[in-house]
Amino acid sequence: MAPTPACIEIQDPRFEQLVLFNAELELLAEGFRWLEGPVWFGDHRCLLFSDIPNNRTLRWSEQHGVSTFLEPSDFANGQTRDLQGRLIQCHHRSRCLTRLEHDGSTTTLVSQARGQRLNAPNDVVVKGDGSIWFSDPLYGLMNDYEGGRQNSEQPPALYRLDPTSGIAEAVATDFDGPNGLAFSPDEQLLYVAESGAPGASEPRQSIRRFRVNADGRSLSGGDVFHRITPGWADGFRVDEHGNLWCGAADGVHVIAPDGTLLGKVLVPRRVSNLCFGDRFGSRLFLCASTALYALFTATRGATWQR
Ligand code: MG
Repeated sequence: MAPTPACIEIQDPRFEQLVLFNAELELLAEGFRWLEGPVWFGDHRCLLFSDIPNNRTLRWSEQHGVSTFLEPSDFANGQTRDLQGRLIQCHHRSRCLTRLEHDGSTTTLVSQARGQRLNAPNDVVVKGDGSIWFSDPLYGLMNDYEGGRQNSEQPPALYRLDPTSGIAEAVATDFDGPNGLAFSPDEQLLYVAESGAPGASEPRQSIRRFRVNADGRSLSGGDVFHRITPGWADGFRVDEHGNLWCGAADGVHVIAPDGTLLGKVLVPRRVSNLCFGDRFGSRLFLCASTALYALFTATRGATWQR
């Protein structure tokens, strides 16, 4: 076997099939405050990502480096694209989800549920039927750094936003801090990061796995799937084989569908969130605290061709 790059730590032989012997971790840009929400736009050959404390959405491309895409961004955090390719953003400050239309206007998709204002929508994913699933923890309301202190009107929850009715229904409420989320490639399973109650002495922190019921819109299960150490799970993505690539305090942890830690990508900074992108969906983009990194891999993101 060829030696692996210094950034790769193999813990299970299956990981050797997912990484390249000749690809190193690349530092693409730095000097930010706290990065989150990476989303790849293949048609524009660029990555969009959130610099939450600086209240801006940034764009990176191989040709032009970093530029500003939206400022102010209303403290945008998690981002994704819908089935029509439009940008969906979670906003802390105005406690809502928005969609950037093809003509450049912005539509607010949802700002309340269960008769109350949302807390601070954190992360979002779009299912193959067009429904928008998002987490609504308290984190973005708790300090001035990521949007400004505000009062909560309801407990944290996980929601499914129906694209036709525009109504958000809670699909899981047994959460202290729902955060990143992603479906398995066949969309039979939904993984959700539980990042724990803010300030708790022993916060409940794990990745939980739900089964999507036959109706395609409700969940069952939700047991602990894996615990990240060191750190805890914030954001993650699933590759074409169903493995989770999850941010951690020491980089990226890759977890097999059976829950085994296959290996790590070691990164000098804490990784909050990541996504697959580039021409073939095989390049991993890492939002790592104050810096943006990338790594070419031997796998592809599960949904990169959407
Ligand atoms: Mg998050």
